[in-house]
Amino acid sequence: LMDALADQAALAVERVNLVADVEKAKLDAATDRLRTALLTSISHDLKTPLASIMGAAGTLRSFFSALTEEARSDLLSTVEEEAERLNRFIANLLDMTRLESGAIVPNAGLCDVSEVVGSALDRARSILRHHRLEIDLAPDLPMLSIDPVLFEQALFNLLDNAAKYAPEGALVRIEGWSDGAFVTLRVLDEGPGIAEEDRERVFDKFYRVRKGDQVRAGTGLGLGISRGFLEAMGGTLTADGRPDRRGAAFTIRMPVPPQARALKALP
Ligand code: ADP
Repeated sequence: LMDALADQAALAVERVNLVADVEKAKLDAATDRLRTALLTSISHDLKTPLASIMGAAGTLRSFFSALTEEARSDLLSTVEEEAERLNRFIANLLDMTRLESGAIVPNAGLCDVSEVVGSALDRARSILRHHRLEIDLAPDLPMLSIDPVLFEQALFNLLDNAAKYAPEGALVRIEGWSDGAFVTLRVLDEGPGIAEEDRERVFDKFYRVRKGDQVRAGTGLGLGISRGFLEAMGGTLTADGRPDRRGAAFTIRMPVPPQARALKALP
């Protein structure tokens, strides 16, 4: 009897292994497909600006003396803009790779979050020049234990998206408040918004909601990087809808460290 049981157990183990192997093979095939899709997307994002740069440079070289001053200047602007796009894409790819390999270790210290919001805004001011900007930060927000460089980058990506996806003239609003245990920052815009089924996927690598978004300079990496940075600092980043109107809303929630709570309690 014992032998029969042992045989059956051995058979069961074998079957389990077999199922595991089949599932693993399926998974490998899926990750292979994913890897191919990612590579295709990366090479597209690298080749498109490169093609524009080469085209503009080639035209300049071949027709230099025939071109007007203005046409030359336009071609040079194309070279600059497309090189900047390449640069941003490569920087994003590096950030994403560093995040995934765990190489991003926040250099956290107690920081005044209003100051970090201010410096993110300073950086974003020129890209937001065609939008209306409203800032509503509660006074005396508690200090946060954050890396100001990473936090500013996370916030900048949200402002950059608001500028990219909300039409000119639309209102972009930053709100910040605290309940003592958390600081909440929200970036709200009046663009097309993000459908409920996409609100988690927009954080995935290379995910872009609209095919048309492909033509805008973007990488599909910004939101994933922002979330990765904020999570590395103990916070969260979520996408929400705006119940009262159209547009996207991104919410950052950061825990207030105990030492900052103690500070706040002092007179
Ligand atoms: P990118 O903007 O470079 O494509 P992101 O990771 O920052 O990459 O955003 C992913 C996608 O989420 C965007 O392609 C866009 O479809 C959508 N999205 C992000 N921010 C907004 C926003 N403020 N309004 C509408 N859609 C947005």
